Amino acid sequence: MEIFDFVVVGGGSGGCAVASRLSEGPATSVALLEAGGTGDNWVVTTPGAMILQIAGKTNNWAFDTVPQKGLNGRIGYQPRGKGLGGSSAINAMVYIRGHRADYDGWAALGNAGWSYADVLPYFKRSEDNSEFDGPCHGKGGPMHVTGSRSDNPVREIYLQAAREAQFRIRDDFNGEEQEGLGTYQLTQKNGERWSAARGYIHPFMNSRANLHAITSAQATRILFEGKRAVGVEYRQGKELKQIRARREVILSSGAFQSPQLLMLSGIGDAAALARHGIASLHHLPGVGQNLQDHPDFVFGFTSDAPHFAGLSFGGIARIFKGIAQYRRERRGPMTSNVAECGGFLKTRPDLDLPDIQLHFCMAMVADHGRKPRWGTGFSCHVCVLRPKSRGSVWLQSADPLAAPAIDPNFLGEETISTPW
Ligand SMILES: Cc1cc2nc3c(=O)[nH]c(=O)nc-3n(C[C@H](O)[C@H](O)[C@H](O)COP(=O)(O)OP(=O)(O)OC[C@H]3O[C@@H](n4cnc5c(N)ncnc54)[C@H](O)[C@@H]3O)c2cc1C
Repeated sequence: MEIFDFVVVGGGSGGCAVASRLSEGPATSVALLEAGGTGDNWVVTTPGAMILQIAGKTNNWAFDTVPQKGLNGRIGYQPRGKGLGGSSAINAMVYIRGHRADYDGWAALGNAGWSYADVLPYFKRSEDNSEFDGPCHGKGGPMHVTGSRSDNPVREIYLQAAREAQFRIRDDFNGEEQEGLGTYQLTQKNGERWSAARGYIHPFMNSRANLHAITSAQATRILFEGKRAVGVEYRQGKELKQIRARREVILSSGAFQSPQLLMLSGIGDAAALARHGIASLHHLPGVGQNLQDHPDFVFGFTSDAPHFAGLSFGGIARIFKGIAQYRRERRGPMTSNVAECGGFLKTRPDLDLPDIQLHFCMAMVADHGRKPRWGTGFSCHVCVLRPKSRGSVWLQSADPLAAPAIDPNFLGEETISTPW
């Protein structure tokens, strides 16, 4: 059985960063287990190909929620990245940190080391920002952050409209203040998506002998000796394999699959696990609880202006022209992250913090692009930043390859979702 100092389970945004940093010292061996592929082909790197991933199953787990009471029984869609880079390989590339008050709130709850002042040096260390400098930004880090190369004139029109409506214009949403409207910075380099894998893992896959990225390897349970995690069991193709950790097993399988893996390993509510025939190793009823997700409302408008993406004869012709331009210059509409503009607003002037975020999209994006319609246009997503509802994740079955049950409990402010 292979043995490493650290076994990191899940090669997404978090897992790539932690595996890369741990393996900086050649004496420390690190295995990074990832259920998906290497996340390095054109579908990932070409920003305009995002729709192929978000709306389908390419590099995407494409989970559903359970029927949502607050949405009249509707089932929601939960895209999640699959492959090195994880959700950073399929996301909208908007470079946004939390509000400083979010981190300070975590610290105030007793989480030492999580205040804004504590986390800022790590943000700076991760960043190579081509546009901003100063106390909030970093240069020379592995994650490239830059402005859009889409050259879409609607960006300036959006800013002009915001000025006319007397909104504050914000150049840098990750600076001292967040509130205001503006255009987003992106995790891109030279017009290509810069996923966490591109920043943290791909450059070292052949050059660091102590870093092993094991792909197409889905962890099925954590192995324990007593109550100490000592390794991971995983499925690769038809084979069930095991890997051992001398020092630590680090779970970074995302908000849904990290709790799923804990429960599959006997850590969770003992009675709920017993229903699936899973022996309890450690009764911890909080596992899978307190899921928080932000509902997003979308306004869409049709428009024949030649700056918007969509299905029309003109729109399709622009895609082909855009592909040619992208191949030549890595500029133009294929570099667009679609959600190019937006901002943070307070719905009431007496609020301390912005409570909604806008994503203004250069296309009519409905249901994550899963409901295409004829015509071009634009849309604006309005997202509730700090929902009061609390949901949960639980096991639908003891089969580790089955999807977890996901209940964001959207608009269920008064109820706490309790599956068992
Ligand atoms: C469609 C979409 C758009 C988004 N847009 C933005 C945006 O514009 N800006 C922004 O800041 N954020 C955005 N986000 C959110 C952001 O991408 C995520 O918050 C972030 O990537 C989560 O990082 P993570 O490490 O927690 O999980 P992930 O990056 O999802 O990584 C989890 C990894 O674990 C792997 N995994 C899961 N289970 C197992 C297992 N059993 N064994 C092995 N591997 C496993 C998965 O395949 C995946 O690679 C978006 C997310 C989505 C889905």
